[in-house]
Amino acid sequence: MAESSPQIPTGVPTAARVYDVMLGGKDNYEVDRAVAEASLSIMPELRAIALHNRAMLHRVVRHLAAEEGITQFLDLGSGLPTVRNTHEVAQEVNPQAHVVYVDIDPIVLAHGRAILADNANTTVVTADIRRPEDLLGRPDVRALIDFDRPVCVMLVGILHHLADDEKPGRIVQVLRDAMPSGSFFFITNFTRLGDAPESVALEKQLLEQLGSGRVRTPAELAAFFDGLEILSPGLVPLPLWRPDEPVLDASTIDVRFMTGGVGRKP
Ligand code: SAM
Repeated sequence: MAESSPQIPTGVPTAARVYDVMLGGKDNYEVDRAVAEASLSIMPELRAIALHNRAMLHRVVRHLAAEEGITQFLDLGSGLPTVRNTHEVAQEVNPQAHVVYVDIDPIVLAHGRAILADNANTTVVTADIRRPEDLLGRPDVRALIDFDRPVCVMLVGILHHLADDEKPGRIVQVLRDAMPSGSFFFITNFTRLGDAPESVALEKQLLEQLGSGRVRTPAELAAFFDGLEILSPGLVPLPLWRPDEPVLDASTIDVRFMTGGVGRKP
């Protein structure tokens, strides 16, 4: 169980800690486990889906660091540190790669600080991406990210926590406009499946218990990539993005419930 601290509210569930439950982590509380259990009772595949999301993150970061020469990663809604974080994958390729983790939940900073104490090229910032202009102006972000050089902006498993009236499309647009040419955007999101009513039931449950949840159609997800050149194989179920191993059955919910892709700013 996570250590309690005055800044960490333990009586209400948070997305970062519920996701930690899904990944088998220990930084969560009873309230978080209750939401995770309720979600799993609707969609038992959620644990596998969380692992697919992490596996795609590893493949994308490795690809961008090794093949596209990206040296700066802005990981928005990074979540609690878990097995193989963005900085570990990027710095395996290039020890000089810079990584800024951003999350609204103060528990991420509390746990990230300890892990990153010896890593001068990586930091954790507590901020709300719904105010992207403030985020981009922060000295602790600018200390590690040079916005005159290409950046990989990561919005992995975060936009489905924002309601439509929080204007996720505008947030992506502000970020896109602020990045130089040659920057990449890596986005994954829950996907509304026409043949799987549980995808809609899960949205309702997350809204009720977590206060946030928005399962988007493939067209809504595609709109986040407006103005970007989408890398092959496109916006696809996560395990199908340049898999290390062939995917034997792509028809299952665990494969299809999240869609992701990578776009390059021309
Ligand atoms: N990106 C990680 C991954 O995909 O493995 C973690 C995803 S986790 C499901 C979503 C994270 O987004 C949580 O840690 C949550 O605290 C964070 N988050 C939600 N809304 C946010 C906001 N408005 N600003 C910053 N972070 C936010």
